[in-house]
Amino acid sequence: MSGKISSVRGMHDLLPRDAARWHVLEEAARVLFTRYGYEEARTPIVEETALFARGIGEGTDVVAKEMYAFADRDGTSLALRPEGTAGLARAYVEHGFGVDDPQQRWFYLGPMFRHERPQKGRYRQFFQIGVEALGSADPRVDAEQLEMAARYFQYVGLSGVELRLNSVGDEKCRPAYREALTRLFLDRFGDLCDQHRNETASKNPLRVLDCKTDRCRAVAKDAPALIDRLCDECNTHWGDLRKQLEGLGVAYTVDSRIVRGLDYYTRTAFEFVLPDGAGLGSQNALGGGGRYDQLVRELGGPPTPGVGFALGVERLALALEAIGKGERHGPDLFVATQGPEAEGAVLQIGSTCRTAGARVEVNLRKANLGNQLRRADRQKATFVVVIGAAELAGGRVRLKRLATGVEEEVALADLGREVVSRCRAADHNV
Ligand code: AMP
Repeated sequence: MSGKISSVRGMHDLLPRDAARWHVLEEAARVLFTRYGYEEARTPIVEETALFARGIGEGTDVVAKEMYAFADRDGTSLALRPEGTAGLARAYVEHGFGVDDPQQRWFYLGPMFRHERPQKGRYRQFFQIGVEALGSADPRVDAEQLEMAARYFQYVGLSGVELRLNSVGDEKCRPAYREALTRLFLDRFGDLCDQHRNETASKNPLRVLDCKTDRCRAVAKDAPALIDRLCDECNTHWGDLRKQLEGLGVAYTVDSRIVRGLDYYTRTAFEFVLPDGAGLGSQNALGGGGRYDQLVRELGGPPTPGVGFALGVERLALALEAIGKGERHGPDLFVATQGPEAEGAVLQIGSTCRTAGARVEVNLRKANLGNQLRRADRQKATFVVVIGAAELAGGRVRLKRLATGVEEEVALADLGREVVSRCRAADHNV
């Protein structure tokens, strides 16, 4: 067999030209989330299918239609994880945290898989950065987490991200609400979109509320809001959360259509949206999350409340790209060579500069000076030096800043330090 093999539809390579933006996003998570006491946990990409069926809900689109499930060699049904929370909750139960040390704050980073129709901002393999705070039902935990998210967007340079907030109640107040919705939707059955007419209107009427079709939207406009029908406990939680957010200065809008696509949510539910799309088109939700006070128990652990969110890395990266942020860094220094003496010395020069902390590319090609300088340009090097026999003999080099063409003479022995002090000083000024 011959011929080209391409990547799987909806699954993409991350190439070096885009990796810098991902590093910004990942590094910001590590720096900021640890400031709030979240520690990294990594769970396997493959879990038993039953985990997602039980945790996320058999009737959800994610599980019923989008999951990559397959039989292992022994026949066990396994699935590529479609999201991160179920796996983390499984690990929490499996390692006995619920009993020994219930208050846990974890964050994670990694690929998720959903067999969706690919389009810009929606893929079949995509990466999420997420957090989970387990072991507390206190609305201040939700508020602190939402403040952390707002700080994250600010830190990576994304402004204008809106927090849309809702409460989806709990097992006490939601059933009556679902009934009211079911009555409305059965009444207006003919007005719903095909998908929701056929399967959801009675089984999971909440799903109609976040349907994007004009038909469902028109019907959903007439639906009552759950926040007007919360039970006392949920209502207190909702009121306290809002008070805390206001105290912290975290802006939000109440959006009763935010119900989220997974079954495990209770009370707090939210999404982070870039309203005008800013580079994202229709896939303008950067992330979402909420409270899931029943999930750990559903998975066989002790009753343990939790709250978390997940951000879509590809969408964050697209949003950064649209505003020109997180561009790839070139090397600090490109060392061009002229003549055999320089060719013989250039590895040593590069090595010494790297010891000083500089990011260096040295010319190792048999190329004329023009070609070498073109390469330095293409690589977006900040500085370039040309080393020949005279520079080696005199111990002095001309350090040229490519963006301005300005040259300065420095001692060859200090080259690395000179470059680092200029490049890092510039970094601090940004
Ligand atoms: P969810 O787990 O569905 O709540 O999604 C949380 C976030 O993950 C969304 O707001 C998106 O930013 C991202 N996301 C979800 N599904 C996809 C997908 N198929 N492709 C790219 N990003 C996604």
